Amino acid sequence: MSACAMPQHARPDVDLTARCACGVVSIAVKGPIHAMFMCSCEDCQRASGTGHATVALASPGDVTITGPTRSFARPANSGALLTRWFCPECGTPLYARSSRAPEALMLPVGLFGAKTTWYVPNQLIFARSHRDWDVMPEGLRMHSTYRNEGGH
Ligand SMILES: [Zn+2]
Ligand SMILES: [Zn+2]
Repeated sequence: MSACAMPQHARPDVDLTARCACGVVSIAVKGPIHAMFMCSCEDCQRASGTGHATVALASPGDVTITGPTRSFARPANSGALLTRWFCPECGTPLYARSSRAPEALMLPVGLFGAKTTWYVPNQLIFARSHRDWDVMPEGLRMHSTYRNEGGH
């Protein structure tokens, strides 16, 4: 399972809609996904309650949010400001954005449920805080902190 075996998945075009858990907020994404990765930084672990976040990067102009949102911003380890948006009623994570890469929205892939067969993450960033119980695919590329671009 090397990344080279699946180049057709590198930048899939998607046409997705999803709702938060309570239904107040809907999100639509239509356009290319620029990168797919997972992040096991401690901030993602705290925000998700799991071992890693599943992230797909999309252009802000390709993402439409309908309904009220709230956000929370905090400095990431890099010094960049990481802002996470969520439903003010039920807390479902909707997207995140880093001042380090403002041209990309980070979408939490699980929000889109079964419509995510296109998602083939090819690396784990912030592997330095990866937990042994969070089992990763064999051969996944791991970066101690950031990869070259697109992370937070
Ligand atoms: Zn909600
Ligand atoms: Zn993270």
